[in-house]
Amino acid sequence: MAKKEKANEENNLFKKIIAHSKEYGFVYPSSEIYDGLGAVYDYGPYGVELKNNIKRLWWQSMTQLNDNVVGIDASIFMHPTTWKASGHVDSFSDPLIDNKDSKKRYRADVLIEDRAAQLEEEGEKEKADALLKNMGQLLEADNLDGLLELILEEGIVCPVSGTANWTEIRHFNLMFDTQVGSVADEANTLYLRPETAQGIFVNFLNVQKTARMKIPFGIAQVGKAFRNEIVARQFIFRMREFEQMEMQFFVRPGEEMKWYEHWRDTRLNWHKALGIPDENLKLHDHEKLAHYANAALDIEFKFPFGFKEVEGIHSRTDFDLSSHQEFSRKKQQYFDPEVNKNYIPYVVETSVGADRLFLMTLCNAFTEEEVGEGDKKKLRTFLKLNPVIAPVKAAILPLTKKDGLPEKARKIYQELKYDFNLIYEEQQSIGKRYTRQDLIGTPFCVAVDHQTLEDDTVTIRHRDTTNQERVSISALRDKIATAVSPKNIFDKL
Ligand code: ATP
Repeated sequence: MAKKEKANEENNLFKKIIAHSKEYGFVYPSSEIYDGLGAVYDYGPYGVELKNNIKRLWWQSMTQLNDNVVGIDASIFMHPTTWKASGHVDSFSDPLIDNKDSKKRYRADVLIEDRAAQLEEEGEKEKADALLKNMGQLLEADNLDGLLELILEEGIVCPVSGTANWTEIRHFNLMFDTQVGSVADEANTLYLRPETAQGIFVNFLNVQKTARMKIPFGIAQVGKAFRNEIVARQFIFRMREFEQMEMQFFVRPGEEMKWYEHWRDTRLNWHKALGIPDENLKLHDHEKLAHYANAALDIEFKFPFGFKEVEGIHSRTDFDLSSHQEFSRKKQQYFDPEVNKNYIPYVVETSVGADRLFLMTLCNAFTEEEVGEGDKKKLRTFLKLNPVIAPVKAAILPLTKKDGLPEKARKIYQELKYDFNLIYEEQQSIGKRYTRQDLIGTPFCVAVDHQTLEDDTVTIRHRDTTNQERVSISALRDKIATAVSPKNIFDKL
């Protein structure tokens, strides 16, 4: 297939996934009746279940499967000095540029990246690579004038105005700030946290002491983070308000590379165990390391718009704890009885976005299959979600609305609803009801028919194959429980 055609197809697929998310209650644009809010989204009834299941699975994988990892839940607001110590006040910024004609604002590095992608599409891979390398060096040297020169040399124009009438490039801090109390002055300025990690660092000693942790140990957290992202596109891939799931693993200095490799492999396997095919995942080592890291990589997933980061694994050295020690003037040391020494631990971080994981599982699950023959050929759309994270585990469906079938079906529903998230549905034909469950990824449809009244058996219809099997009502609970147990995933880790 020609490159352009393929790109169009991928673009269409992504549009379909976005439309599907909205139509079937997964993700809506925020405050849509007011035309939405850029890069902010709300989760609908099936979306919230799927997201909660993903978060729970991550939480269990971290805290339940590792006896040396415990969790916390820190506040979104933190003492403002936290963000000075972490480096966010000084260097958490993007290089921004405005087009004077369209008044549109862009990230300079993204404009250049887009140009490189275009060159590659035109078969000019060498030129594209050289351009990216050049950009990397300029960014590293913080040479904003050089970046602007590069944009002009490449003839990059604003996609809206079509002109190269650019402003200078300047740094734009991504943190949102707000005021605490009634007096609006700088001393009262707080930030909405741009990452959850710092909530873990400032609690390092609290957790170590109160949970009696011995190095090596980890602290996990799931929570909201906020970034004033300028590139507001790609649906929930890049949001201004999103959720992170981070784990900081504290180790003896000098042992960080061993743990970095351990967590890299563990986390890659986790994505595979969730059902993401090997060929759609890859590791991408960072060439340009952040100020706090001595090794870093991304786990990337092949989204319809290309391989992009879902998770970062970073070896953060003792940067954060040392910096908090300096700014707070409180020792952030650990006494290691095995080596009889006090030291500031090194840290290996795993950091994954709950929303990006959500998008990854949705893209991976979205399936269109041709079914039927001749005139009856049609497309069957379903979400092939791993049953462990599927929003609804089973739908209980009486075949008709009479002959006592609804009563029988309701009884089954009542008995199982304490164990699983279920749907009871009696409207419309059974075929339409199956289709509806396919669209939200329900792995099992349980049909109650006349035979059920005679022998207490039901039909289970399987989402992925549409195969049906007859089982007794008494076997239902075990059958569903086995299929949706997180053990199916944990066993593969
Ligand atoms: P990117 O390069 O895509 O901006 P990043 O390298 O800044 O990401 P980190 O700071 O390492 O990201 O954050 C860790 C994880 O948090 C990312 O792998 C991603 O899954 C998630 N994440 C970061 N920014 C966003 C965002 N704006 N919207 C949704 N998820 C995000």
